[in-house]
Amino acid sequence: MTIRNKLSFRFTFIVAGILILFSFAIYFFSEDYRHDEFITRLKTHAENSALRFIAIQNNDNIYYISDKDSVTIYKENSLLFNKHKKLLFQSNPHNSFPIKKEWLEFEDEEELQFSFEDFEIISFIYKINGENYYIIASGIDKYGLSKLKNLKLVLIFGNIICILIVFVLSRFYATQILKPISRIIQKVDIISEQNLHERLKIDDNDDELSKLSKTFNKMLERIEDAFIMKRNFVSNASHELRTPLTAITGQLEVTLLKQRSIDDYEKVIKSVLDDIKKLNQICNGLLDLTYANNKEDNLSNVKIRVDELLWEIRNDLLKIHSEYQIEIDYLNMPDDENIMFIKGNMHLIRTALINVIDNACKYAPDKLAKIVLDFKSDRIKIQVKDNGIGISEEDLKKIFTPFYRGINAKGFKGSGLGLALCKRIIEKYNGKIFLTSQLNKGTTVFIEFPVAV
Ligand code: ADP
Repeated sequence: MTIRNKLSFRFTFIVAGILILFSFAIYFFSEDYRHDEFITRLKTHAENSALRFIAIQNNDNIYYISDKDSVTIYKENSLLFNKHKKLLFQSNPHNSFPIKKEWLEFEDEEELQFSFEDFEIISFIYKINGENYYIIASGIDKYGLSKLKNLKLVLIFGNIICILIVFVLSRFYATQILKPISRIIQKVDIISEQNLHERLKIDDNDDELSKLSKTFNKMLERIEDAFIMKRNFVSNASHELRTPLTAITGQLEVTLLKQRSIDDYEKVIKSVLDDIKKLNQICNGLLDLTYANNKEDNLSNVKIRVDELLWEIRNDLLKIHSEYQIEIDYLNMPDDENIMFIKGNMHLIRTALINVIDNACKYAPDKLAKIVLDFKSDRIKIQVKDNGIGISEEDLKKIFTPFYRGINAKGFKGSGLGLALCKRIIEKYNGKIFLTSQLNKGTTVFIEFPVAV
């Protein structure tokens, strides 16, 4: 069922419920009021008849007749009984019906009310000249009942018409309110890979629907960015893989053109080996990137003591690059050893930290990287500082894009995968990474990991 139908049906049901309840109340109270009023009239008529009868019996010419209601009652009959329940008088014998004995059995001051077919009946005790008489009065409230019948019809038809009007109006308003949603659906429906740049129109008012359009637009922006990144990623990856492959092919083809000396062959083999190593590095980086992007895989997570890992990385890097200098400082030394651990895949976290420390040494003329460790109760902060060539503001914005290399990186070995991989890995383990840098002054990388629980 569409939201429009749901809204109009629900609203109509609610209004219909209230209307019907209200109509029942009106009908019930009208009926109650009519009955009370009719019984009062019946009583007055019966009392007058009784007074007249007793006065005539006593040869009394002056008798009191109540002027409360002189209008005749349809099929009226009043029966007067003495205290021994003997019938003395009946006002309209042709309107009589069988009287039941129990109609006269009640306590003093009490009155009984019954109904028989359309007749409404009351029996009560009436005191005349200090003596108790029993009266049974009956009649049909022809006008009252017909008024009530009319009221019933008015209420039924009124309700039906009101419910129909409410339904039509609620449908109209639901359509009006949901119009922007239909517009959004139509627009979103036609957005595909080819026209991802399209955006939804945002109305001036600050209602939920314009907020929804804004959210959709933001989502479209993210999807578009992801799409562009994916497209660039594939072309950059192919380019990065093709470069060393072309270099290898070229070198081997040139070498094979003629007979060469052993020294020449050695040189070519070394150069080809360098290219193969680069290829290998890129392939490993790509594999790690895929692994880091796999959010669900936490099977190989272990507890890692951060400072120990950093010392290991330092030793490994120094073994390969003897020119590097890596200093590790502790901003504080926690009493509780437990807050020095983080949780994650050892290989991935190691790869991320190696990339950052290697960059710091690689891009600094003094080859010096300063690492500062800060242990907080719930997170561990790592700063990697260098006094290197720095990164331009323009490059800083795209630094985490796979295969992106800054203009400053010309002349330095690398593939542009390192920082992209770092970000994915650190975020995979709920950490954070960001860089601050100044051209020709140096760069600081801030990394934060949550403490292992
Ligand atoms: P690369 O293999 O090129 O070092 P990264 O992804 O590790 O790739 O880094 C991306 C780019 O960020 C580098 O090409 C370089 O321009 C810049 N960069 C990263 N770290 C530093 C740093 N410490 N100092 C200067 N530039 C850096």
